Amino acid sequence: MIYPAKDTFIHMAAQALQQGNVVAFPTETVYGLGANALNAEAVAKIFEIKQRPFFDPLIVHVDSLNMVQQVVATLPDIALRCMEAFWPGPLTLVLPKSNSIPEIVTAGLDTVAVRMPQHEVAQKLIQASGVPIAAPSANPFGYLSPTTAEHVAKQLGDKVDIILDGGKCPVGVESTIIKIERDAITLLRHGGIPLEEIEAVAGKVNIIKHTQVEAPGQLPYHYAPKTKIVLIKDITNIPDDSSCAIILYKKRDLPFKNIHTMYLSDNGDMRQAAANLFTCLHALDAMKLAVIYAEEIPEVGLGQAIMDRLKKAQARHS
Ligand code: AMP
Ligand code: MG
Repeated sequence: MIYPAKDTFIHMAAQALQQGNVVAFPTETVYGLGANALNAEAVAKIFEIKQRPFFDPLIVHVDSLNMVQQVVATLPDIALRCMEAFWPGPLTLVLPKSNSIPEIVTAGLDTVAVRMPQHEVAQKLIQASGVPIAAPSANPFGYLSPTTAEHVAKQLGDKVDIILDGGKCPVGVESTIIKIERDAITLLRHGGIPLEEIEAVAGKVNIIKHTQVEAPGQLPYHYAPKTKIVLIKDITNIPDDSSCAIILYKKRDLPFKNIHTMYLSDNGDMRQAAANLFTCLHALDAMKLAVIYAEEIPEVGLGQAIMDRLKKAQARHS
């Protein structure tokens, strides 16, 4: 059931977490499905509800440096610099894990992914529960991430007792994930903090062509609607057909009459585009169209995260 994210309901949700249950809650990126990260059985419920494969590790959400220290084994300087610059916010750091984190959270890896969310409801929930919260996106594995409480209710409503409603997620795409090793930083997933901003703080970030999947963000398809998605550069040749839709990067007049048209932004603002991406895809997917065309976006800044999600959505049907 959906509850407004008032203090009373946040406390009710925190109690549920302490009792080993799962709760859906808003973060600035997307809605999360959370459980006490220190309780392996509680975390197992997340995998069951999402039908998520056990090889896919979870991000642990914290509210303080104290809590980070409970979760990780070492905190290199470079990680501290990134935390200072981007936390709370949509940057996830992969670091050596401490013994308090059960294997199920990290899929048996000796590293753990950790993030301090900026959303007030997420922060209050972690504080009230007093434990780190393991939370992937609150959607069935592989499907579009939820950016409203209604998205969660529609996809998982019969499996999750408490959904805290904090409105639409302001960032709208998942966190950027970087792995920090002694002398190297590697990008595992594009997301809410642009790569350029991270490099300005942390120096060169390695981008490797993965032969081995370290983050499912690296799977060939993920974040995908059921409807076929086709990315296009030149939109002038698409069919003007009411069984199709076109997602435009910025608002403008087009010579089409029948095709459904949606805009990610009014005039090209990347933040607005990212915040609208999943909402737009959810709405169009519900219309059961033949094809959703998506205009290609410049791959700079947040455009890299947006294009990554669109390419993965496209890959599902190709
Ligand atoms: P999600 O919460 O669904 O956005 O997915 C979390 C992402 O973090 C997944 O892509 C995970 O594979 C990735 N992740 C979590 N822990 C680790 C880790 N220890 N090493 C590498 N990637 C991780
Ligand atoms: Mg996910």
